[in-house]
Amino acid sequence: MLGRVAKGVKCNVSGCGKEAKRSLSADKVRLAGLSVGSGEKRAYLCESHYKEFKKRTKKDRKIEQWRYKGV
Ligand SMILES: [Zn+2]
Repeated sequence: MLGRVAKGVKCNVSGCGKEAKRSLSADKVRLAGLSVGSGEKRAYLCESHYKEFKKRTKKDRKIEQWRYKGV
């Protein structure tokens, strides 16, 4: 199932290394501005980095909406 992470997997945001809670497409995570190891297809995020990812993607979506409205 998407998003589930096996026990013992570590968050692969550089400099973190906490226990991962979520797995996502590494591309999406990079687009959100979090640095995951290059060449990885999957990004594993701990609870706090997942929250940060969600926050950042929310912001991006809003900015996109503004852009569309502004044109
Ligand atoms: Zn983390």
